[in-house]
Amino acid sequence: MTRSPRAVARNVRAGGIDPGARGDVAREDQPWAWDESRWRGCVERVRAGRSLKPQAWPGGAEVAVALSFDSDHETIPLRNSETHPGRLSQGEYGARVAVPRILRLLDHHRVPASFFVPAVSALLHPGEIGACVAAGHEIALHGWIHEWNTTLDPDTERDLLMRSIDVIERLSGSRPVGIRTPSWDFSDHTLNLIRELHLTYDSSLIADDEPYELLADGAPTGIVEIPVEWIRDDAPYLTMDRYTGTRPYTPPRELLRIWLDEFEQAHREHGLFQLTLHHHVIGHRSRIIVLEQLLEHISSISGVFFARHDEVAAYLAGLDPGATRRGSDRSGSETAAS
Ligand SMILES: [Zn+2]
Repeated sequence: MTRSPRAVARNVRAGGIDPGARGDVAREDQPWAWDESRWRGCVERVRAGRSLKPQAWPGGAEVAVALSFDSDHETIPLRNSETHPGRLSQGEYGARVAVPRILRLLDHHRVPASFFVPAVSALLHPGEIGACVAAGHEIALHGWIHEWNTTLDPDTERDLLMRSIDVIERLSGSRPVGIRTPSWDFSDHTLNLIRELHLTYDSSLIADDEPYELLADGAPTGIVEIPVEWIRDDAPYLTMDRYTGTRPYTPPRELLRIWLDEFEQAHREHGLFQLTLHHHVIGHRSRIIVLEQLLEHISSISGVFFARHDEVAAYLAGLDPGATRRGSDRSGSETAAS
C-alpha cells in the first residue's frame, strides 16, 4: 500500500506510532527482528555529544535566557494544503497583530530574541523581517513552507534549505547561521545538510536541558545544539483545532507558573532557560500577559545573560572543552552542574 506524504507526516506528528503501518512491513523489517547494527545505527546517526554548559556565562551571569519565536504565520495551513481564507486568517493574525505586540514588549524590556522564519512566511511579510532586524533580533531558518523534512528525499531537503538561506539572507541582510527544523522534524539527512551549508547551530532536538555538541555516527561535528522542549513551548498548552479533540488544556496564567519554575531551576543550576513561542498562540491579549509577567520577573533579577540563539551558540563554540561544566559523560554530573 502506498502511503501518502500526508499520512506519513501524520504518523510523524503522532510520534511515529502508527500500528496500521506495521502490517505493511515484512517480518524481518519489524523493529523486534532488527539486528544490533540496525537499531544501534539508528540511535547513533545523530546523538548528543559533550555538554556545552559553560563554567560561566558572559559577564559572570548566573543564567542565560534565550527566547525564540517561530514565525509560522500562514505556512502551517499552506503546508497542509489548507488554502481557504478562513484557516489562513489564523496565521495572518500572528503577523498582523501579534508580531507588533511582541516586538513592543521585547523593546520595552530590551530583550533580544531569535525569530525562526519559514522562507514563504518571510516572502509574505518582508516588512516584519526588517522590523525584527532593526530591533536587533536574529532571523534564523525554519524551512521553506514549514515542510516535514522526514517526508522529503535528501535532494529536495537540500534544495529547500538552500533556497531558504537565499531568501532569508536577501531579506534580512545577513546569512543565517542557525536552523530550527519545522515541527522539529529533523530527518536522517538534516545534520549532513547543516554541516554542508556551514550553519553553526540547530535548535530542534531535545536530548538535554543544556546545549550540547551534535555527534554524527559517533563523531563530533562542532555543531551546537540549543535544545528545545515541549514544556517550554506555548503550542502544546494553548493550541485549538475545531475539528479534532485538540483544545487548550492549560489556563494561560498556569503556564506562567510552569515557565517560572523552569527558569528558577535553570538559574539554580547556572544553566540555560530557552523558550519557544508562536505569534499566533502567545500573541493574544489574554496570553501575552504571560510573557509580560515572565519578562518582568526575569528582568528584576541581576546576573541574567539575555541572548539570541546565535549569540549563545557563538559563545559556546568559542569555549575550549575545559571551560564547559561536563565532559561527554553525563553520569555523576549533577553536582558539577549545580
Ligand atoms: Zn514552526
